[in-house]
Amino acid sequence: MKPLPNRAQIGQRVSLRLQDPEGGFRDLLGHLVAVNQVRKKDGQVVTFDPHLIAIWKVIPSNPISTGIFLYDTMSRAQREVSISDGKALRMYCCGPTVYRDAHVGNLRTFLLGDLIMRLVRLGGHHVRSVQNITDVGHMSEDINSAEELEDKILSQAKAEQRDPFVVARAYEAGFHHDIARLGISTSDIYPRASESIELMHRLIAELIDSDHAYIGGDGTVYFSASSYESYGALSGNKLAELLPGHRYEYEEGADSKRFHADWALWKVAGNRSEMVWDSPWGRGFPGWHIECSAMSLHYLDNHVDLHLGGIDLRFPHHENERAQSNCASLSEVTDQWVHGEHLLFEGRKMSKSSGNVVLLDDVIARGFDPLALRLVFLENKYRSQMDLTWDQIGAADSTIARWRNKYQEWSQAESHNDPEAVAAIIESIYALLRADLDTPRALVKLRALERDSSISDSSKAQVFAAVDNIFALDLTRAFTAPELSPDVQELIALRAQAREAKDFARSDELRDELATKKIKVNDGPNGQSWEVIP
Ligand SMILES: [Zn+2]
Repeated sequence: MKPLPNRAQIGQRVSLRLQDPEGGFRDLLGHLVAVNQVRKKDGQVVTFDPHLIAIWKVIPSNPISTGIFLYDTMSRAQREVSISDGKALRMYCCGPTVYRDAHVGNLRTFLLGDLIMRLVRLGGHHVRSVQNITDVGHMSEDINSAEELEDKILSQAKAEQRDPFVVARAYEAGFHHDIARLGISTSDIYPRASESIELMHRLIAELIDSDHAYIGGDGTVYFSASSYESYGALSGNKLAELLPGHRYEYEEGADSKRFHADWALWKVAGNRSEMVWDSPWGRGFPGWHIECSAMSLHYLDNHVDLHLGGIDLRFPHHENERAQSNCASLSEVTDQWVHGEHLLFEGRKMSKSSGNVVLLDDVIARGFDPLALRLVFLENKYRSQMDLTWDQIGAADSTIARWRNKYQEWSQAESHNDPEAVAAIIESIYALLRADLDTPRALVKLRALERDSSISDSSKAQVFAAVDNIFALDLTRAFTAPELSPDVQELIALRAQAREAKDFARSDELRDELATKKIKVNDGPNGQSWEVIP
């Protein structure tokens, strides 16, 4: 007889046929979380009697290699992104806390997910992506008083004198608007914390049952950090070195939590009356970290191929999420952790207190194309800290305008294509992107191509159009002519006539005159074209 499931198979997907004591059979499909427990796709954990197993098997997964290498924070090395179930890359990206507009630094992190999704899809693979919307439970980290710290959404709602859910939905809409303007592809699902309370309750109950969580003296449910021996492996923080008071959840009082590094999964409501829910542990609200475990396990079928977030989330948020998820599923849930670096603005960390918070709206208000910001981000590697300036955004705006003009010009040129050469250039650019998203070097190649006179215009147009699948700078967009004054229009018409009449002296004179009016005239095989000098 085939041996029963053992601990070595925990974490794998299994199919079981059990004898029903009342006759017949019962089938179970899911991930083995204990030798007698399966977590089904809907998150429900079913306990069975192993002696009733009639037949069973581990469902083999045939992972797909994507050829994309990314730096994995956990193993501190570049690793190839792999689609573990052979179907779709399961990707989880920590989303915004919707108590304010996302600043451009936050948007840079969201762009990271977009680039990876585009690259994976370019390889012909599917992606299943989840990004959470934190609309409750994320507590303020500013410690200005001994008072209990407030939920970021609630304190903003108080400041705006609006209902907290109204505030959360407004900023959530703003987030969607911003990512659309930056050409960031959408995730498949955006679960909200406030609508995932049931999922969190189920997970917390499991963690209590397995002794990874406990109810503290203050009624709050805490995760026991020391119950997970691998705690700290992601961030490099050792439990012994985490001093009391280091973390904002630390509360004075011997009877609240047992160990200073433990964190709240479910907090008691106390005096709080808004954004609270009933639970098996009393009325209250969730801690921040538990939502990402509950959502990723639920929506991605207990396994995450790629987990993304800003570097500031590595600790404690991702460390805690890893502990929760791994303890609940008895497996290493996330294969690869990818973190985007910080963004500085004009040399300083972007923060409200420094007064240098820049929003996408500010970029647009200065007359720049929002995609200019995207280009500046692409000029920097996602893993390096970058210092953003207005000058860079302005320069990127001009570059995009120039590339769009050139694309129109090149695409109208007579076709002189060497398909193999074009394919080789495109591939050389993609190869750089597959090597840990080396967008700066990929852009260097694109700029070199722009200037390379040995390559035909039509080939350039083909390369630009192809790589724009990833860069997404809308390079093939036809230039929309700005309103020109009647004098300028007349000068442009006179210049065209002079050129046609081969009156070069006159045509040069008119070109110089137009230049003083910020119009640059270009002569191409199809006649004269012009662009506005920024
Ligand atoms: Zn998260």
